[in-house]
Amino acid sequence: MSLLAERKGPPAPLPRLEGKEVLIGSDPSIAKVKGVMFGGRKAFLLATVGEAGMQELVAKLSPRTAQYTKTPLASGWCEFETLIELDRAIYEMLKAKYPNVLALIGAASAELGIGRVYKSLDSEELTKFLENIALFHNQYQKFGAVRFEKTPSGARMIYSKYPCYSPIFCASAFGFFLEAILRHGGTEPTVQETKCQTLGDPSCTFEMTWK
Ligand SMILES: [Zn+2]
Repeated sequence: MSLLAERKGPPAPLPRLEGKEVLIGSDPSIAKVKGVMFGGRKAFLLATVGEAGMQELVAKLSPRTAQYTKTPLASGWCEFETLIELDRAIYEMLKAKYPNVLALIGAASAELGIGRVYKSLDSEELTKFLENIALFHNQYQKFGAVRFEKTPSGARMIYSKYPCYSPIFCASAFGFFLEAILRHGGTEPTVQETKCQTLGDPSCTFEMTWK
């Protein structure tokens, strides 16, 4: 279970779901994300609704998306639209019980990617982790660019040049960053998406602070 899901105190932010969505874009060959993202979703589903609940959800998906969810291929490439189909289905199934479920999905991804939990804040490791996300961006997505910037009280990630985007995707990123901060021992994490490509901005910019 992610630290974000276990956390007492302020719940993860509710998703902002308005905004434009482009699922494929002009070049379908690059509208792809790494299969490992499905691995995080599967782990989240098994921990949250169990095998039976996951089967119930998978039955509602298109065959291709159902296959990626049942048998995630960590190093394979999957169409961006299939990830959004899955996340939207999870949101619809669980939003009544977990209004912030999209953040929890992102947190599960960070949990899978980071594993260990730091006892106390290691800002250097956290910064390195975020820098590496930017550095190895093209191993996770075939589209877009990302820039990492250090700020006085945290960091900023600037995603741009996305040919495809969805508010659903941005909502899970929130949880990913919150969990990354918590796992590195950060307290009082804040994440704000100050610009968003789904709202017509040139980038999706996530401002993060921690103590
Ligand atoms: Zn965005």
